[in-house]
Amino acid sequence: MEKVSCLIIGSGPAGYTAAIYAARAGLKPLMYTGLQQGGQLMNTTDVENYPGYPKGIMGPEMMEDFKLQAERFGTDIRFGMATKVDFSGAPHKVWIDDTIEIHADVVILATGAEAKWLGLPSEKRLNGNGVSACAVCDGFFYRGQEVAIVGAGDTACEEAIYLSKLCSNVHMIVRRDQMRASKIMQERVLNTPNIKVYWNSETDEVLGDTVVDAVRIVNRVTNEKTTVPVAGFFVAIGHQPNSAVFKDFITTDEQDYIVTVPGTPKTNVAGVFACGDLQDKIYRQAVTAAGSGCMAALEAERYLSEHGHA
Ligand code: NDP
Repeated sequence: MEKVSCLIIGSGPAGYTAAIYAARAGLKPLMYTGLQQGGQLMNTTDVENYPGYPKGIMGPEMMEDFKLQAERFGTDIRFGMATKVDFSGAPHKVWIDDTIEIHADVVILATGAEAKWLGLPSEKRLNGNGVSACAVCDGFFYRGQEVAIVGAGDTACEEAIYLSKLCSNVHMIVRRDQMRASKIMQERVLNTPNIKVYWNSETDEVLGDTVVDAVRIVNRVTNEKTTVPVAGFFVAIGHQPNSAVFKDFITTDEQDYIVTVPGTPKTNVAGVFACGDLQDKIYRQAVTAAGSGCMAALEAERYLSEHGHA
């Protein structure tokens, strides 16, 4: 067992910002990164809307900057997953990879969210063999070939545009007659000649024995089915917050997002704070996640001094 003052779980913009603030406040934070160090931005290409980068920056590069800044002030950054918690009383207890037991006076939860899947058996069977939820990670494998992407939010649009630069044609499957994405992203998609949008359409089946070789699309209005040969099938339909491990102790909403006291990172458990996409289903931006990480660290610091720990 190891005892720390401040434990941060998760390493996206929220976790790293919490670490920067907690470290500069002298809390000597310990951070466990989770499996995907850097979080969702590791799957992103250009980030054009994070203030301070007038020319934009690649997501992974930005997260490396966040990490270096957190380390500069003494954050102890380790690789590992929180697999069990006990928030029933002070100190709070967290188990990493089922074996390492950490006791902490405050815990900052910043485990973010992860990709959702359609739930088709063929999607699962061919996952990693043509089916992917990350165009930036896997698009390269299908350069010069035909691919399909499902979804109509900003992520789907961003990934469709990314794929259009690598692949011969992108077949974009949109379940309604309109997109949820911001106007500018929609326009970019609709103005890209090698992206074909299938409106009012769903994925009937991903086809292929060992690797994806086609997708069967069904039109929801006409019931007409079309089989389109593709080598890659990308799913970009939103995210699921990574809250399962905390749910026995921390209140979540109907979509599994952690509930915080409005305008604060406070959860229902004293000394446990939540920030970033784990508790934000509305804004979900790197900059809002970073802002909420800052708030979590400031509240953690306040909590520690009010409870005689610092
Ligand atoms: P969203 O929740 O915004 O969009 C999900 C999309 O997937 C919707 O179009 C939805 O359709 C569709 N969808 C959901 N379930 C299914 C299904 N079973 N079958 C087919 N389609 C489905 O998620 P995103 O990941 O796109 O975006 C999340 C947040 O991140 C948003 O706030 C977005 O603005 C932001 N973002 C911003 C970026 C930027 O500013 N550069 C880049 C990427 C994301 P329907 O519309 O019919 O519900």
